[in-house]
Amino acid sequence: MDIEQLDPTPEDYAFRDEVRRFYDQNLTDEHRRAALLTTWALAEFEYGRSWQKILYARGWGAPNWPVEYGGAGWSPKQRLIWEMESQRARPPEIMRMGKNLVAPCIMTFGTDEQKAYFLPRIISGEDWWAQGYSEPGAGSDLASLQLQATSDGDDYILNGSKIWTTFAQFANRIFCLVRTAKMQKKQEGITFLLIDMDSPGIELRPIYTIAGEHEFNQVFFTDVRVPKSRRLGEENAGWSVARHLLLYEHSAGLLRMVTELRWRVRWLNELVGLEADGYGGSLRDDPDFSRRLSLLEIAVEAADFAAAQLIADAKPGAPPDATGELLNIRNRETAQALTELGAEAVGYYGAPDQRGARKVVTDVPVVGPPHVLLPMPFYLAQRANTIAGGTPEIHRNNVAKHLLGL
Ligand SMILES: Cc1cc2nc3c(=O)[nH]c(=O)nc-3n(C[C@H](O)[C@H](O)[C@H](O)COP(=O)(O)OP(=O)(O)OC[C@H]3O[C@@H](n4cnc5c(N)ncnc54)[C@H](O)[C@@H]3O)c2cc1C
Repeated sequence: MDIEQLDPTPEDYAFRDEVRRFYDQNLTDEHRRAALLTTWALAEFEYGRSWQKILYARGWGAPNWPVEYGGAGWSPKQRLIWEMESQRARPPEIMRMGKNLVAPCIMTFGTDEQKAYFLPRIISGEDWWAQGYSEPGAGSDLASLQLQATSDGDDYILNGSKIWTTFAQFANRIFCLVRTAKMQKKQEGITFLLIDMDSPGIELRPIYTIAGEHEFNQVFFTDVRVPKSRRLGEENAGWSVARHLLLYEHSAGLLRMVTELRWRVRWLNELVGLEADGYGGSLRDDPDFSRRLSLLEIAVEAADFAAAQLIADAKPGAPPDATGELLNIRNRETAQALTELGAEAVGYYGAPDQRGARKVVTDVPVVGPPHVLLPMPFYLAQRANTIAGGTPEIHRNNVAKHLLGL
């Protein structure tokens, strides 16, 4: 998508130039490399953290939030221009569970004290949140969760565990769904809590991915005291907060995802243009490979237009509908297919473990030519893309129910 397609005014160009200047002046080489190395959610946490602080200092810490909480108050067109320039500049990834997931819930369900305390800490990059939803026996069937919260005066006492908790090792807060009562319907008796990660009794056990990365954790709670003032919404009514949050999660990062898809298409085009057989031939000469790549390029173009339309139509602070969820299913599948082509393109260079060479600052050399460093980690990381945030089966059930009314 290009600014020319937005019927731009001189003010739009001026805004575009202002955003572009900001990126040019503030993105360091290390930020850029951190973005380049991101195969899943983050390359290295520190670069996302420092980037959030830079955004905040400029007043753009959370442009899409309502203005009263620090949003930029941009028009739909400006939001699109911002996203386009962000695609172009490619800043490092930021852990989004605070800014994009729990913050809108705090705005909707929080007390005045909770809003005044938590929102400034999220937008400034002081607080980083993890998401404590899934449990060993509760993933797709989230309402079966069992992390027990027993009432004790002004506190709850928590016992149990959460699993697949992304980057909990970097978070200083975690929002959790807990069981406060056993009622007839399992969706009842759930409460939403805002918890400090340094509370006594919380322990992390790392879980390593197929690519050897420490992205997930199991988080254990043993007699953890959480003040009742940290409850978001009413006791036993946490399911409505949970569902509100899922609306944001299921539609989150559409343009960011499209950006990623575009980068991968560009990168695959470079990759397939390289000599592959030692005799001057490249994968581009392979009609089957070229055909598969072209089909995916078309899918990315369509995804870009659809995401831009959705963003232009969105009202600041309003929850998204299931259209974003529908697009997300498609985009995740496209992302997987692109990384499959990438892994195919690098062949046996995908085999060595190159984690040392994939650091932002490193002197470990790449085994093979430079372009072979990322395709295999991308491929491995993307296996999780159609599970994280809900599986396609569950999303399709949601779309059928909420969008199609079936
Ligand atoms: C990369 C990644 C990051 C994650 N980060 C977090 C996090 O930060 N915090 C967090 O709380 N969780 C996180 N998760 C967990 C994620 O939300 C769950 O993995 C997901 O909801 C699926 O649950 P499950 O793994 O228990 O699979 P299950 O629910 O056991 O599903 C197994 C299979 O059964 C199918 N299935 C289940 N129910 C139905 C149904 N009703 N209809 C049709 N098919 C069905 C599923 O589609 C799937 O194929 C993460 C997961 C991944 C992969």
